[in-house]
Amino acid sequence: MPQRSCNKRKLEDSLKMITNCPGCLVPKSGIGIKTRTGHLDSCKNCGTLWRESGAEFLEYGQEYFKNRGHEGENPVMRKSKIATFDYFYRQANIPPGSKVLEVGCATGWGLVAGRELGYRMRGLDVAEESRQYAIQRGFQPETVVQSLAELANERFSLVAFFDALEHIPEPENFLKELSHHLNPGAKLLVVIPRADTASRKILGKLWPHYLADHWVHFSRQGLASLMNRAGFAPERYFFPVKWITPFTMATHFSLHSGYEIPVPPWPMFPLNFGEDGAVFCAGC
Ligand SMILES: [Zn+2]
Repeated sequence: MPQRSCNKRKLEDSLKMITNCPGCLVPKSGIGIKTRTGHLDSCKNCGTLWRESGAEFLEYGQEYFKNRGHEGENPVMRKSKIATFDYFYRQANIPPGSKVLEVGCATGWGLVAGRELGYRMRGLDVAEESRQYAIQRGFQPETVVQSLAELANERFSLVAFFDALEHIPEPENFLKELSHHLNPGAKLLVVIPRADTASRKILGKLWPHYLADHWVHFSRQGLASLMNRAGFAPERYFFPVKWITPFTMATHFSLHSGYEIPVPPWPMFPLNFGEDGAVFCAGC
């Protein structure tokens, strides 16, 4: 390759690097940390961790969900998914009949849990298969969109991000665009792996949230800074417990280690591996 175009490419790559904290915008500091899925920069100011090259993972789809044991056709799996999302939704305390958008609706169980609480659900997911899962769960095909632009003039009273924000390539731009789709006083409900938790420090490299598809792990302060720039203020925090089964644990373990362990999809038990839950409100 001629020297000039090589230099140009290097320059373009370096321009794309995320050198300021995606949470509080302070320039990266220190040497960062080494994880199973590569190097992460760290913010000395707020504790957020991020991959300098940003979001790279694109393989969202049926295989992705299956490899993580998220399809949940078994009755216990179904029950565990719905119990988890039901508990999360209740933290936002919004009335039945409200219009709700779930960002990263994946295999559709969050949509079902919202419908059971009486919400009028819409879903957004980059995976094309998410629409098929929603149809299987009794939703109309137009329930699920792949981008905010497809929502046109629709407005929501609640937008939920269950393990979704850490996948979004440009979260600040996304949240700012999202604010055009919100009713006055709308809320955001966020569940994310939290960078500043004891579980991350105790588990070290074994922390289960170090995944190729998670390019950023916000600290509580980092998330609040990001939300503040997009016009949202924290209303309350909660401890998100997930109801899971041995099958879900085993499929995640096999994804990390390559070892397959045959286990039944029961019983259900509650777990938290360092996730944080928060309700934010718009213009409050
Ligand atoms: Zn920061």
